[in-house]
Amino acid sequence: MSQFQNSLAFAQEMDANDPLKAFRDKFYIPTFHDKPIRYFTGNSLGLQPKATREYILEELDAWAKFGVEGHFLGKRPWFAYHENLTEKAAKIVGALPIEVVVTHSLTTNLHLLMVSFYRPVEKRTKILCEAKAFPSDQYALESQVKFHGLNLQENLVEVFPREGEQLIWEEDILAKIEELGDELALVMIGGVNYYTGQLFDMETITKAGHNVGAIVGFDLAHAAGNINLKLHDWGVDFAAWCGYKYLNSSPGGVSGMFVHERHAYNPELPRFAGWWGYDKETRFLMQPGFNPMKGAEGWQLSNAPVLGMAAHLASLDIFEEAGMERIGEKRDLITAYLEFVIDTISEKNKARCTFELITPRDKTKRGAQLSIMAQGQGKALFDALTEEGVVADWREPNVIRIAPAPLYTSFEDCYWFGQLLEKAIQ
Ligand SMILES: *Cc1c(COP(=O)(O)O)cnc(C)c1O
Repeated sequence: MSQFQNSLAFAQEMDANDPLKAFRDKFYIPTFHDKPIRYFTGNSLGLQPKATREYILEELDAWAKFGVEGHFLGKRPWFAYHENLTEKAAKIVGALPIEVVVTHSLTTNLHLLMVSFYRPVEKRTKILCEAKAFPSDQYALESQVKFHGLNLQENLVEVFPREGEQLIWEEDILAKIEELGDELALVMIGGVNYYTGQLFDMETITKAGHNVGAIVGFDLAHAAGNINLKLHDWGVDFAAWCGYKYLNSSPGGVSGMFVHERHAYNPELPRFAGWWGYDKETRFLMQPGFNPMKGAEGWQLSNAPVLGMAAHLASLDIFEEAGMERIGEKRDLITAYLEFVIDTISEKNKARCTFELITPRDKTKRGAQLSIMAQGQGKALFDALTEEGVVADWREPNVIRIAPAPLYTSFEDCYWFGQLLEKAIQ
């Protein structure tokens, strides 16, 4: 991308021409350092929208004023609070409102969805996932297999990168799906790998899984609010994501789940049930015998944690205003600029240290995250960056993960990242 320049003036011009430039000011940029913070961990914990406080205070005030009556009184009655989030969340993941609900936390939701959609029968018992899945997903998958009394080695099948490589070849995933055929019960993959930043072609994987009669689900922790998703059109069976990474909805905040419309009207699907998944028209008759809500809402267990949901709403309102279309455009541009800056610094300092990009260079195969391997340097380099006010993420043995979250990261941040990287090498 030779239209870029590694200069402060150029970065500032990019910021001046950025259609989303006003959005940075809607967030608190951390200030805990004596140097300006360059925040590149929006893929881990998104920054706090300035409006979040007000949304939460509204609910605290409603609680103070109405007590239990807040379930039915006030601006956004708690009884149906989650409904305020549904359409906005659905837009972000490319779903129909009936296919989405915001509830619980991510790993909880993965389990609840697998209870319904991992149904090993006869020889169809296997789960296919990517090697190096996020640890929580690995444990969830393992325990699901064991929960059904099945042998882990045989039934949890991982697709690995090829010898000496970091990324997984999509054709290897497709070939494995084909090979497992009628033994494959579930394909369950992270849409964007948390470590490498690799984005998988979810539509093609879904088709391949369906071709052999398997169910296909995705963990979208690193994709929601980052990638332009079309879960409905792609035909994905189910998905789950968390609200606190690119979606900026408070530490450990509420999460979302997606269940495709084709499963929306099937009350016979086995599931772990709770009262909030019960048909809301008759929920308070408190009758025995579970009668689920139609669609994703039928997977809710508990009444809404309103304060966490208020934080989520504050952020979803920002996403709605910005629109995923524009967010996606800036994501590709700013990520390419950061890539250019790193390449430039790497080339200039190659006698000391080079940076190998693990993340695909093809923008259709990645989101806003770049994972770089520092050849010839260890943790000391990362610590030196931290000293200079860069907030990034370190993974042993020598990988730095950085994510220019499009809503609040500036091109100038990317320029300074390069300058501070160069200084840290010295
Ligand atoms: C962040 C992340 C999690 C975290 O799960 P929680 O239940 O929210 O703690 C799980 N899986 C993936 C892929 C993640 O990136």
